[in-house]
Amino acid sequence: MEDRMQQQLQAPPDCTTVMAMIVRRLGWRLPGDSGIVPFYHLTVSQATQLQGGSTTEERLELLTAFVREALGVSTDSPTPPYLATNLQHFQATLTRLWTAVHWENKNKETLWRLVVDGIPLPGNTHLSRVPIKPCECGSYGGDTDQPYSPRMHHFWECPIAKAVREQIDRHLRLLSPATIEGGITRQQLWLVQAPTGCEQAPWDVIAMAALSSMEYGRYCLRAATREQRQQGASTHGRQQQPQTRTAEQGPRQRAITDFFNRLGGFTQEEDEAANTHPSIYTTQPTLDNAVQTTASPLDQAQARTVADFWTRLHSFAALGIPKYGWDRVGPHHPILAIVGAQLRCDSPMEITDRGSERAEQGP
Ligand SMILES: [Zn+2]
Repeated sequence: MEDRMQQQLQAPPDCTTVMAMIVRRLGWRLPGDSGIVPFYHLTVSQATQLQGGSTTEERLELLTAFVREALGVSTDSPTPPYLATNLQHFQATLTRLWTAVHWENKNKETLWRLVVDGIPLPGNTHLSRVPIKPCECGSYGGDTDQPYSPRMHHFWECPIAKAVREQIDRHLRLLSPATIEGGITRQQLWLVQAPTGCEQAPWDVIAMAALSSMEYGRYCLRAATREQRQQGASTHGRQQQPQTRTAEQGPRQRAITDFFNRLGGFTQEEDEAANTHPSIYTTQPTLDNAVQTTASPLDQAQARTVADFWTRLHSFAALGIPKYGWDRVGPHHPILAIVGAQLRCDSPMEITDRGSERAEQGP
């Protein structure tokens, strides 16, 4: 006995033996399962489950939080039964949007990120320790308690988001004034549920375009504010035109300006368009520098956001009538209509004078 013990002490087992002994006792715990699968028995499907497990759970949590916020159910209140129904419905909607709507991914990306709170907004779920960044619109952030999440502000409450909502509201109201009296709801926009008077297939496109433009507008507002600040610092009251002109050039701006110059392509009667003469044309930066320099950064950003929204819709219409889901869309459908063998897109409406009032008030 003593001899054997001494032998073992003198000659410890080699590395391979030890590893074999340890590894046999190690394994993986599968998600949602208390059992442990030993290393040597792990199948490929179990390994896949292990890799995606925590992500799937986390994704569902974030998705639930998004649906909650869309429905206006606070996190403190108990889960209402309609939350589960909406969540289920929304998951099916997302599958449809990612697979059945044939449109460039850049138009889908904002919604794709938004549902998991993946837009990099300081103070959101993933950046909860970073203080909320005040919005350049002046109505969000700062020292006071925030009634809204950053997502809620930028994709619903901000004047930038409201400018896009207003375009949709006014177009829908043209056809059925009574049905959408209070305007589209957050549930309809965020969860992509078609409002009365609008078919689901066009709404899929309109909602994704709207959210994408709101994200674009957020950048525009920041850029316009920065530009104004720099101008204020460098020129200090001097003539500011040359700088403005430089900042407004670039392929995207040219595309938008060209778009507004091509009025002939609109479905509305040309004389009607000329009569209403939407202010968005005059606030288009490259068309009239005099207007440009007096417009506030918020007005500029709103005009560009609305232009971006319609540019996206026109780009979709240019792809032609989609094969599936558009049978019920007729020539009088709001925003996107099928006229003969063509998919037609409506024209922008004038941005209301709330913007100009704000400009007069000044900082
Ligand atoms: Zn804002």
